[in-house]
Amino acid sequence: MKTVDNYNFKGKKALIRVDFNVPLDKEYNITDDTRIRAAIPTINKVIADGGAVVLMSHLGRPRDVPEEKYSLKHIVNHLSKSLGRPVAFAEDCIGEKAKSLSKALKPGEVLLLENLRFYKQETAGTESFAKELAALGDVYVNDAFGTAHRAHASTAVIAQFFPGDKVFGYVMANELASINKVLTKADRPFTAILGGAKVSGKILIIDKLMDKIDNLIIGGGMAYTFIKAQGGKVGSSLVEDDKLDVALKVLSDAKAKGVNIYIPVDTVAASAFANDADKTTVDIKNIPDGYMGLDIGPSTEAQFAKVIADSKTILWNGPMGVFEMSNFEHGTKAASDAIVEATKKGAYSLIGGGDSVAAINKYNLANEVSYVSTGGGALLEYIESGSLPGVEAVEK
Ligand code: AMP
Repeated sequence: MKTVDNYNFKGKKALIRVDFNVPLDKEYNITDDTRIRAAIPTINKVIADGGAVVLMSHLGRPRDVPEEKYSLKHIVNHLSKSLGRPVAFAEDCIGEKAKSLSKALKPGEVLLLENLRFYKQETAGTESFAKELAALGDVYVNDAFGTAHRAHASTAVIAQFFPGDKVFGYVMANELASINKVLTKADRPFTAILGGAKVSGKILIIDKLMDKIDNLIIGGGMAYTFIKAQGGKVGSSLVEDDKLDVALKVLSDAKAKGVNIYIPVDTVAASAFANDADKTTVDIKNIPDGYMGLDIGPSTEAQFAKVIADSKTILWNGPMGVFEMSNFEHGTKAASDAIVEATKKGAYSLIGGGDSVAAINKYNLANEVSYVSTGGGALLEYIESGSLPGVEAVEK
């Protein structure tokens, strides 16, 4: 894998695809700058070599035309503070202005381009648009893991215009190293913890992981489909009735492949999908009518914690319950704590996928696990398909 460490940027203009798709509040304050902070080391490497930097990113989901609320100008000040140097802004990501600003850049200077998705050609992966972007730099750096599963103009198509001059940034390199460690060099036992809302969203990843893992822990909303498939009474819990056969197949595949599968035995059931609903802890196979399981129960927590504690590699995707509500977050917090404990004992833990990352951040435990992935969709797709368009384009 060729990274920025294998390239000397002296006198070059690096066109870096970053992921600055950060959340903004109504006053355009950045409410979580993780993605900006993550990009700083790559930018600094180019500058330290004596190069200049042109940054390109998307922000939000504009409808293919400029929209004030999605302008990247809102992040210029924050980025400039994080870098400790001025950042120039091009109000258009292509065209004469962008070209002249890029041309005038001196070593050590940084230019941020306007939102790529103000052009529909970005997501369409239009070659002519990618070529216009490519004219703004001498070398292409892809550091946007979060969009690497998309074959967009700036994430994949553009790479062909830099035949000998395309490398990965540190975010990409770290993400790929972390995931490859888990998928190809896992110490055993290897435990996958899958939760979240639905079986349908996780079935491909379960299939892929089945050949690699020793233990599969199933929690969250998807557990109730497994319980119902086995003849349990799940009340009004979230269930995908058209996936009962899929759940049974997962169970039989696990058995055939020697994977230990752990499904909740008790649940915290609520009279409504609300934090202040009446709640009761019950056998998960016997949830009363009118009640829905919103978290795993204490016996399940203890069982899961034991499996996690004995693991040497842990991959966690998806919360154990509706952790956004304080009365139903206990199971997710308990799983996070167990992962932290296992990590302290030497396990390698990778947390990936939007909501488990949100959970680990909620409990301030991101620094206590081995790696927190910055790209949920990209991580899952990499596990499912073994590659990503944005990775292939640079490696070609
Ligand atoms: P996913 O994006 O598939 O990982 O799903 C994450 C969402 O699943 C979170 O917003 C959780 O609140 C939700 N979730 C977790 N457990 C349950 C449950 N028992 N019932 C309904 N939703 C759940």
